[in-house]
Amino acid sequence: MALRKIREMGEEVLTKHCKEVTKMNLRTKLLINDLFDTMYEAGGVGLAAPQVGILKRIAVVDIGDGPIVLINPEIVGQDGEQTGEEGCLSVPGKYGIVTRPNYVKVKTLTEGMEEVFIEGEELLARALCHEIEHLDGKLYVELAEDGLHDVEDEKE
Ligand code: ZN
Repeated sequence: MALRKIREMGEEVLTKHCKEVTKMNLRTKLLINDLFDTMYEAGGVGLAAPQVGILKRIAVVDIGDGPIVLINPEIVGQDGEQTGEEGCLSVPGKYGIVTRPNYVKVKTLTEGMEEVFIEGEELLARALCHEIEHLDGKLYVELAEDGLHDVEDEKE
C-alpha cells in the first residue's frame, strides 16, 4: 500500500489537461493502486491522477459499490438533472452545491485496456462527472452555484 500526497486547489497541476494513456505498464498499474489506497485512506469516493500530481487521463471511483477504474474516460450519454452537495479531496473542508446530470454513460478503458461502457445514476453519475473534469484541469468550485461552504458550518 502506498499513499500519495493529495494536491490542493491553488497548485498548478490541478489546472492542466491530462494526457491520454496509450499503453498499460507497471508504472501505470502502480499509480492506479496508489490512487485507490490514497482515496480510501482519505475517505473519498473518487480520485483523479492530477490530484496526486500525475497528468494522465486516469481516475478511480468507489461510491461503496466496488472499485471502478477510469482510463481515457469520456461521457457519451447523459440524462436528467440532480442538484446537491459536492466536495473534493483537493478542496478539504469545503463543499458546494452543484447541478449535474442524474444519469451518465461513460466510455472508458479497463486496466486491461479494453473498451467498456459504465452507466451511473445519482451519486455515481456525480462522481464520474467530477473525476472526468479533473482530467481537463477543472474543479467543481467553478460550478458551485452558491460559492463554497465550510463543512464545519453544517454541524452548528
Ligand atoms: Zn475532486
